[in-house]
Amino acid sequence: MPARLKAVRKTGRMVGRRLMRRNSTAGMRFAEAFSRFPALAGFIGTAIAICMAVLSFAALWQGRAQALQNAHQAAANLVATLSADIAHNIESSDLSLRTIVSGAQNPAVMALSPDLRKLVLFDGATGMNSVGGAFVMNREGRIVVERDPSEHADLLFNDRDYFKVHAERPDAGLYISGPYASRLREGAASLAMSRRIDAPDGSFAGVAVIALNVSYFKDLLSRVKVGRSGSVFIVQQDGVMIARKPALPSDGEGYVAKSPSFTAMQDAPSGSYISRSALDGVRRLYTFQHVPGTRLIAAVAPAEDEVLAAWRERSLVIGGLTMAFGGGFIVISWLLAISLRSRAIAQEKLQRLAGTDSLTGLCNRRALDRRLEDEWRRARRAGDPLSALFIDVDHFKLYNDTYGHVMGDDALVAVADCIQNAAKRPGDIVARYGGEEFVVVLPGAAASGALTFAERLRANVEGLAIPHSAAHKGVLTISIGIATASPRHSDDALKLLNNADAALYLAKRTGRNRAIHEDSVAGNDA
Ligand code: GH3
Ligand code: MG
Ligand code: MG
Repeated sequence: MPARLKAVRKTGRMVGRRLMRRNSTAGMRFAEAFSRFPALAGFIGTAIAICMAVLSFAALWQGRAQALQNAHQAAANLVATLSADIAHNIESSDLSLRTIVSGAQNPAVMALSPDLRKLVLFDGATGMNSVGGAFVMNREGRIVVERDPSEHADLLFNDRDYFKVHAERPDAGLYISGPYASRLREGAASLAMSRRIDAPDGSFAGVAVIALNVSYFKDLLSRVKVGRSGSVFIVQQDGVMIARKPALPSDGEGYVAKSPSFTAMQDAPSGSYISRSALDGVRRLYTFQHVPGTRLIAAVAPAEDEVLAAWRERSLVIGGLTMAFGGGFIVISWLLAISLRSRAIAQEKLQRLAGTDSLTGLCNRRALDRRLEDEWRRARRAGDPLSALFIDVDHFKLYNDTYGHVMGDDALVAVADCIQNAAKRPGDIVARYGGEEFVVVLPGAAASGALTFAERLRANVEGLAIPHSAAHKGVLTISIGIATASPRHSDDALKLLNNADAALYLAKRTGRNRAIHEDSVAGNDA
């Protein structure tokens, strides 16, 4: 084997081993994927940024739900306190009412002097701020005993709803009326708590009444903080508003009962929901509880906007930063992808240059080795033959000596073009092997086809008619050695070139300007 072919083989093996070592690491495989598909960096970067943004927005959304949950919790606590306060007041007033009823049904008590009777009937609880007055009314609806003296001699209260209820229903028990304007206390808004007084025979004998000041409920609500747009109110189950903060506008009465969400308040003993107020259009978080033993409902409703204000502010900052960083990350990913692509293009160009002969533009030896290896494997898989042509310009030393090196270069380029034009099939390899020697590899070509191709090529070069006065024919000619192999039955591409080289040697020896196949060499030797 010629020394130059050995050197090529050795270099090929070393490069192969180095590549294998490099490829063995997963990191390098990853890096290789990036350099082969630079857009991957951009897409992966974009996907990561989108995932981070989705996670961040999911966390923010979770924060929103948490803020609403906290607000509901705080409102539920407030409502429970309000309800307990009202229930306590109603309970203690009811105890007083029971005292009044039992006193009023006792003839001995009613026979006492007015001062003593008052002392017996009205206990300390009737003096609470929330209580506007305490009375005993007879069956006609006239006040017969009262805690505080007032002008009522000709006043009748039999038109009041509480009076009618007790007159008609012996079993009404404690009755709490709707709000009304007091006739005794200059129209002060009041609620009446009342119980029936029975005569010894069980017939209706009158009503015991404790009037509750609506201002008590207003005071209670004034201490609750619900923000600027929030509201807190005490409403009857039939929708009549007892007290509200902020106060209802003059035309606001009845809005609550009309609100479609109010039925939720009427039906459940407690609960919460978000709804837009029919009164002022503000979305609020309603949390309510029925006051035990009464027809009253206490409700706290902070405005959703105010509940979420802090969350919104935080979300704006975090969301903005997420978008900015995510956007930056995407831009950087794509810049990286673009730079990887430019690098890959430059590398490819460099590789192409490294495999190209600078004078003729054909493949050089390095590229020939690589491509021959590829074609050899392909032919082995397909079971096809493969032919190689070793081409040498005849008497080229003499050409240089006669016409000079510059003309010599031009002649080499002309021959190279001629060879390149002849080998047009995909897979054909045309390489400058060195000096004035060329190699053509014809995948799929059997001996006869390769010989026909070589003969045509020889004739083409002769047909170029490049003057070569020192040559036998007076024009530049080439000699060609041809070899054919079946890669399935042989594993040595180098041997193919060696055989072609040997055939070339015979072509030179037998007169030049001819194409000889290796089979003829064997025949010759024989
Ligand atoms: P033969 O027919 O036996 O091949 O004779 P030859 O003169 O062609 O063979 P030899 O190997 O003696 O000479 C080859 C010559 O090719 C020698 C060298 O000057 C010339 N040569 C090799 N490379 C180049 C090149 O790049 N440019 C030019 N102008 N000449 C080259
Ligand atoms: Mg030579
Ligand atoms: Mg030569």
